[in-house]
Order: sequence, then structure tokens, then C-alpha cells
Amino acid sequence: MDETTLKIERRDFLKLLAGAASGMMLSGYAFNKLAPVSQAYTDWPERIERWIPSVCLQCSGGCGLMARVVDGNVVKLEGNPLHPVNRGRLCPLGHAGLQLVYNPDRIKMPMKRVGRKGSTQWVSISWDEAIDLLAERLGELRERGQPHSLIVFDGRPTGLMGALWERFCHAFGTPNHLSADEPDGMRIAHRLMQGLDQLFGYDLENANYILSFGCQLLDGWRSPVQLARTYGYLRQERPGPRAKFVQIERRLSPTAARSDEWIPIRPGTEGALALGIAYVLIREELYDRQFVEQHTFGFDDWTDARGQRHKGFRRLVLETYRPENVSAITGVPVDTLIRIAKQFASTRPAVAIGSAEATLHSNGAFNALAIHALNALVGNIDLPGGVLIGEEIPFKRWPPIKSDAVAQEGRRRPRLDRAEADAPWLDALPLEALGERILSGTPYEVQAVFLYESNPVFSTPATARFAEALEHVPLVVSFASFMDESTAYADLILPDHTYLEKWQDGPAPPLSGVPTLGVTQPVIQPLYETKHTGDVILALARRMGGTLADAFPWADFKEVLMFSVRGCYEVRYGRVFSEPFEGAFVRQLQERGWWIPQFSSFEAFWKDLVKKGGWSGLFHEYGKWGHIFQTPSRKFEFYSQRLKAELEARAKRRGQPLEALLEELNITARGDDVFLPHYEPAQFAGDESKYPFHLNPFHVLVLNSGSSANLPWMQEIVGLHVHVKWDSWLEIHPETAQKLGIADGDWVWVESPYGKVRVRAKLYPGTMPEVVNIPIGLGHTASGRWASGRGVNPYALIGPAADRLGGLPARYATRVKISKA
Ligand code: SF4
Repeated sequence: MDETTLKIERRDFLKLLAGAASGMMLSGYAFNKLAPVSQAYTDWPERIERWIPSVCLQCSGGCGLMARVVDGNVVKLEGNPLHPVNRGRLCPLGHAGLQLVYNPDRIKMPMKRVGRKGSTQWVSISWDEAIDLLAERLGELRERGQPHSLIVFDGRPTGLMGALWERFCHAFGTPNHLSADEPDGMRIAHRLMQGLDQLFGYDLENANYILSFGCQLLDGWRSPVQLARTYGYLRQERPGPRAKFVQIERRLSPTAARSDEWIPIRPGTEGALALGIAYVLIREELYDRQFVEQHTFGFDDWTDARGQRHKGFRRLVLETYRPENVSAITGVPVDTLIRIAKQFASTRPAVAIGSAEATLHSNGAFNALAIHALNALVGNIDLPGGVLIGEEIPFKRWPPIKSDAVAQEGRRRPRLDRAEADAPWLDALPLEALGERILSGTPYEVQAVFLYESNPVFSTPATARFAEALEHVPLVVSFASFMDESTAYADLILPDHTYLEKWQDGPAPPLSGVPTLGVTQPVIQPLYETKHTGDVILALARRMGGTLADAFPWADFKEVLMFSVRGCYEVRYGRVFSEPFEGAFVRQLQERGWWIPQFSSFEAFWKDLVKKGGWSGLFHEYGKWGHIFQTPSRKFEFYSQRLKAELEARAKRRGQPLEALLEELNITARGDDVFLPHYEPAQFAGDESKYPFHLNPFHVLVLNSGSSANLPWMQEIVGLHVHVKWDSWLEIHPETAQKLGIADGDWVWVESPYGKVRVRAKLYPGTMPEVVNIPIGLGHTASGRWASGRGVNPYALIGPAADRLGGLPARYATRVKISKA
């Protein structure tokens, strides 16, 4: 690494102490690590300060950071001004990385279980012993012809660690490298309407109208700092007319509070609203006729090769989604719907974006289709200010794997998270369904579970069933840094470094459509006997030998990283991070077909890459229609031929008419309507007469779904708007509270068909009267001293329901009742 080195001045050090002190005041907690540093300075020897670039991995936002390191202690984190995602800024969680690395509750060495499963009794062991033990147990699985019974739950399935896990599973012989990340239902729309199995980006900086169906743009969605910068740009910096931002969701979230207009909507009816907007666009001829004619399929009625006529999207919408009908479903007034539709059509470029809040419902896949249809209606796909289908980071391809007969046989077995071959899901089963499958041995007994950056016992509904499932599995291995709820069931704990102690890739999530890769590098030496999980995979493969060892020709994860990023050096576009004006100049040249090599060798490229913090593809290439639409028609499909083919094939395999399959799926539409964006009535667990309120569990950026609950600074600011810290709260509308005789701060019971929690009520006018909100991320029973025993986990109230078509978890589809405790 080539970082700046200088002797620290006394004046700077006093500033450092002031900074540390303010952090302590904020939290009320000073970590022990800071005390020896400050005491040591009383002798006042010369100190060395370094600023080392890296990437924050506290969430998936991909922000570049600069770590201030004094005598080998990291004392401050700032944003990397050269990183295009965050340009020098970090969010509060990013700053709190210090509390992660110096956290006293970190697991400090490998351990193996000695007591009963779940009894949390372990002894420490050496890394050699741990790898030997694991290699032996996994070798036994392969000897018994059961490699497929290994499951890897991967909470960071993208990037090189995801690829490394996939390669290990491939060479070992299991198809079960399963994502433990929260799904984004919009992906299903991208697959069915454009034939692409990826998340799309949105060029919000150039949009003039943003219609957000529940996206938490300013509270944790995709890349929080990047989106906060975008918001600031739209509000204060962008020349020309001010962009309008409309937020449609059931709660006045921080995002809704900063929007131009908040439109409350009944949970699960977002698809109906999108179709009501489509009605106005079509009825009043406000849609983009040219785009629809040239680039879409199934807008108008059409005739297939056998001469059979089919209904198009236009007719379906005009027949069914009159604003009055839609208003009755959604609760959105007719006037509002018409006004929003007209604004959306006339303020181009306009973009419609959706996320978990709109799609993690029983009808989530259909909601996603309806929302994405709006982008095609205004012709805003692959245009500035619209939907962007980005390129992948050009990593160098890894050598092919030669797997042995055992691995090949294992890979032929079905995945645990796919339903049986003839089952109705379009996608994988959600995580919450897998506990049941493990317990029932469906489709086979699970012999080993690896937990990487995932804590399913805490972060999935039906938490108790998942705990039982892990208890049932003979070998559970956790790579966690903290004793979380799932690690409690581990037989072997192989703790990873924190991100400040290791090499890793830090890809930016798809937003701008431009591939961007940050490089995470160790800013300090590992504090404890922890090990990079990538290095554990490599060591394990070597220890197991044969084709498994052959599949991993790298000494350590740093070599994997260097091998892979060579691809960014070899492609003839992009640039190592640079000042914005310099990057803009090079981008303009490259857009015109010029290529200016920056480096004479890969070694020089690598050196600069590590010094600046990463690489960016610089610009998005428009107009690659062959890539953008990979459907049977090679167009955007309002009428999804893929959906039709899949459902008909499944019905045929089962030897039943399609009608019977639709009945089983509880899909109410029939005929062509099934394959067009339409509204399927949302279903909720809990009878309305007994459970009158919708439960809305919501994400809070600073808790990062619960993995940051053991950071005191985050606990201090968790509920600023309702004056709550270190605890959960239930947001309830003041009128609802009055009817129930509940006052602000009262303890209440929240009960669903699945569970019951006790929590303090906070009167919040920013919620709908029939909706109550509880934050996600608190209610730990483990995970460290500052997380454990604080607040409640709303997942305890939710069942394992899933979207009937796509298999998306229906996490917003539970009703509850409220009573005074
Ligand atoms: S948004 Fe995410 S990646 Fe960026 S600083 Fe915050 S926690 Fe880190």
C-alpha cells in the first residue's frame, strides 16, 4: 500500500482526542482500546499517522473510506473523496466501524462445541485443528455420497466472496449455495418482462420525476450515501427545473418525509395503483407511442402463430383499472391518482421504482410487473434519467473447474430452496421456508450448514423453527464475528476478520448502470486470532485435496482479488478512481471511442488501484437493445411469454389443466390476464375481525437489519423522531391509540397468529390508522452486550408465508391486534 505517512503534530493529536471524546459523549461508552492510546500519549513520543483507503462493508452501499491510523490503531473513518459512490461522505453506520473492530464482544479465536447443541459451551482450538476437523467431517460426507447435503447460507452472495463460495460448492458437490440476503422482488419483473435475471439501475440524478413505490431511498435502500448525495444534488445543485419526488408507502418514513408528496396506500395494493396510473396514461394517450410500438410486445391485442387472438395490456387496463375501482382498492383518492398519472406522463424523464415494501407480499410478483410496466409506458428504459441495465464488473474469468464424479453426482440433486421440479414457484423458496424443509428432510436430510454473514435465527420470520432446524443439523459451522442467535447452534466457530482487517472486493450496487469496484484493504493488523473466510475456504480445499484443491490455485484471498481485478486492467475502458473533473474528461474521450492507457503494467495498475481505492467503468453505453431485451420477442414484454411458458409447462408436467394450477396457486386471474401485469388481491395472515391492524416491520439504516445493533452509537440514534433509544417502539396513529385507550409511552401487547411481543407505544401521526409499525433490527437474544435483551424482534410476529407466484417472502402480509399490557 502506498499511503501518506507523516509525523503527527501535537495540535493534530489534541484534535484527535477531541474527536474521540465527542464520540464517547455521543455513546456514553468508550472502548478500552482508546484508553491505552490516550494514556500512551502522556509520554508524548513521536507518533505516525497514516490515511489508508478502503471500502466500508457495513452495508451493501459500497462507500469508499479513508481510515486514519495512528501507530497501528485505527482512530477515525472518513469518506474517500475519490470514490464515485460517496465522494468523501459516510453515513453514521460507516463512521461506527470503529465500534465494530474494537467491540469487546468479538469472537477472538476458532472454537468447537463441547456442551449440548445450543448450550453455548465451546473451547478454543487452533486454526490447524479447526481446518482438520472440518476437512474430516466434509470428507465423510463425500465418502457417503452426500456432498449435496451441505448448505451454505450466504449473506453476501454477490462479489468475489459469493463467487468463491459458489466455486467451493461446485467442486465439493453441492448445489446449495443459497442467498441469505433480503430478496428484491423487482428482479422477477426484470426476468419476466426483459428476460434478464439481474437488478437494474436507475439514473435518478437525471430524472425529472421519481415515482417511488416504497423504496427507502434515504433510509437504507441499496446505497444510502450515494442516494443521499443524489437527493442533495436534485434539491440544491442540479441546474434547471427541480425534479419531483413522490413517495407511495404506508408510513411517513424519513424518505417520505423528504419527498415532495407522500401518498399513503393500503399495504399490498401498490400494483393496483400502478395499473390505475397506467389507465390514465393509456386512456388519455399520454404514453410514449413510439417506444411502445418499436420496443414492446403485448400492448395491443395480438394473434399467435396458430391464429389465436390474445388480449393485450391496453385492453386489460382500460377494462379493469378505472381510477374509481383502483381508489376503492388502494385508498388513494381518485383526484390524487389522476394528478400523479398526468405528472408522471408529462414530466419526462420519469421513472417508477419499486422495492421490498411493494413486493414482499402475497401478490408481490404481480405488483412488481405492474410497477415496471410504467417505465415501458413512458419509454424510459435505457435512457438518461431512466432504467439502466448495467454491465458487470469485468473481473478476469477464473480457470474452469474439473469436478470429480462425487461432485458431479451431488450437483445433480435438487437445491434445497427450489421447490420440487413441478412446484409452482418461479423463484427460490424464501429463507423462512427452509427451516421447515430442514426439519422435514425435504427433499433430503441436511447434514451440514455453513453460516456466512447470515443469522437466520434472528433475521427470518418463524425464528424458533429455524433454531430447531439448526439444532437438528449434525454439523453447523459459523463464520460470524459475534455470538449471534444462529452461532449459538454452531458446532464449529471460525471467526472472520472485520472489514478493517482484510482484503476484499467492494462492488457498488447497481444504481448508475456503471460498474464500480472499490477495494477493501486491511487498515490495521488483525486484532485477534481471526481468519479471512476466503483464506479458510482455500485452506480447506487444499486440506481436502484432489479436484477440490485443484479448483483453488491461489495462496490466499488477496491473490484471488489480484487475479480477478486484472480483468479491469485488461479491458479497454474505465479508470482508476480520480478527481471528478479528470474522470469526466476521460469519460468524454472514451464515449467517443478513444482509449488512453494509464499504466504500463498490471503491477503499476494494482499499486494505483490500492492507493486511490478502486476502479470505475466511467460511463453507461446506451442502445444495446439486444442485451436489454432477452425475451422471446426480443422486446419489452407486457405479455410475458416466459411466464406463460413456465406455468403451462408446469401444469403439463403435473398432468393437470392450467386452471387447476392457478387454483392451487390462488391466482384469481384467468386467460390472458394471468400473463399480463394485473392486480391480484393481497392476502394477509390473521382474520381481519380478530387482527384489525396491518403490521409494517420497517428497516432503519443504522441497525442494518440487526447486524449493527451491537454498536452503541447506533443504539443512541435509533429512534430520533420518536425520542427512543436503546429500545424498540410501536408506531400507532393517535386516533387509533385513543380508541384503544393507549397513551404515548404505554406498554402494549402486539399479537399476531404467530406470536406476541410487548413494546412501548409511540403515537405517530405519520402512520395510517389501520397500520402499526415496528423497526427491524432490535430484539436480539444474543449478538453482544449492547444488542442482547433490547427491544423486540417483529419477525417473531410473522409467519413463513410467500408470494404465491414468485416465492417472495410475504413479510408485510401479517395482521395484528393491539392491547394495553
Ligand atoms: S451507506 Fe453503507 S457502505 Fe456507505 S458508509 Fe453507510 S454503512 Fe458504509
